[in-house]
Amino acid sequence: MALSEWAADYVNLVLAVGRHDPDFVDAYYGPKAWKATAEAGAPPPLAELQAEAARILAGVTAAETQADEALRGDYLLGQLRAVAAHLARLEGHRFSFDDEAEALYQVRPPQLPEATFEAALARLDRLLAGSGSVQERYQKARAGILVPTERVDAVFQAAIAEARERTRRHALLPGSDHFRVEYVTGKSWSAYNWYQGGGTSVIQVNLDLPIAMDRALDLAAHEGYPGHHVYNALLEQRFAQAAPEGRGWVEFTIYPLFSPQSLIAEGTANFGIEVAFPGEERLAFERDVLFPLAGLDPSEAERWSRVQAELKVLAFADNEAARGYLDGHLDRAQAEAFLVRYSLRTEAQAAQRLRFIDTYRSYVINYNLGEQLVRTWVERQGGTVADPARRWAVFLDLISSPRLPRALGL
Ligand SMILES: [Zn+2]
Repeated sequence: MALSEWAADYVNLVLAVGRHDPDFVDAYYGPKAWKATAEAGAPPPLAELQAEAARILAGVTAAETQADEALRGDYLLGQLRAVAAHLARLEGHRFSFDDEAEALYQVRPPQLPEATFEAALARLDRLLAGSGSVQERYQKARAGILVPTERVDAVFQAAIAEARERTRRHALLPGSDHFRVEYVTGKSWSAYNWYQGGGTSVIQVNLDLPIAMDRALDLAAHEGYPGHHVYNALLEQRFAQAAPEGRGWVEFTIYPLFSPQSLIAEGTANFGIEVAFPGEERLAFERDVLFPLAGLDPSEAERWSRVQAELKVLAFADNEAARGYLDGHLDRAQAEAFLVRYSLRTEAQAAQRLRFIDTYRSYVINYNLGEQLVRTWVERQGGTVADPARRWAVFLDLISSPRLPRALGL
């Protein structure tokens, strides 16, 4: 059997696993009949799906691949191994945090000592004037840059328009490119991009907690341009679409969330923020456009950008909290306290993050470690801060290729 036939079986397997886990299929825009078939009748037993995963894995391993299909074969094998690991989880197998991350996302997350976070807190201590703990001063500063609810949409739309314009200068987006924002409540995430196929996405923004100014570009660039929306649109255009536009690789019509693809997706979405808005350009845009639009004091923008740099270090505290909590070394209250101390979240934000960890578990590594790995890889190909054009080119190459974390060779 050719790789294409195994790829079709892989798509149908992922759809079937989705019957057991509603979070599993993040996007699907392949043949409608396959989805209808997968949704008909009772879900196939997990053991049957495991056997099917093993059969397809063996098939892909033995399949004849064309010279230009090497990454395609690696992609299918990596994704299939993750599907098998996720099935094991659904069958009740409990992986350790590190084993799970490796089985699903192809990386073992390094353990960071608390001293790393303490050092970042010490730097923040100097940046944030006033009395009280660093956490209290950080939250006080953040309270000063909350976007008033009635201005949230105007700020997001301006951020999205700018991120899109910057991305379009470098990437060939589909003519049908479209991105719609919806506001929701009662979710464990703060925003989510739902790719619809045909170059369109619906992005949902969770308004449970107040939105601070730093979220505007995060959201516009991470969820939209050049993040998730562009990643999905380019994969669709380049691979999923039939020839001559694409290659008719049907496996790219589906995106299983708990798979190595997610490390690339989240890592590039986070790194993409600074690809589109490098250094001072982000500060200038926030200070000159977004702060005034939100009715906030633009003179706060600069200090805030220095604070944000330290938060990149503290982002890794999520992994340590999740590892401790999921491996049973921290109870819920201790894990929340860890997040309050080292990621400077409020108690409400820490509780929201713990709910995210309950559902998505080791997925948290994809944001911080994913960003770090993507940055390292892009810089090794010459895409450094000093060469923005090259950085865009390497970045776009990565988000329109089947490369999985292992293929980054890091
Ligand atoms: Zn994301």
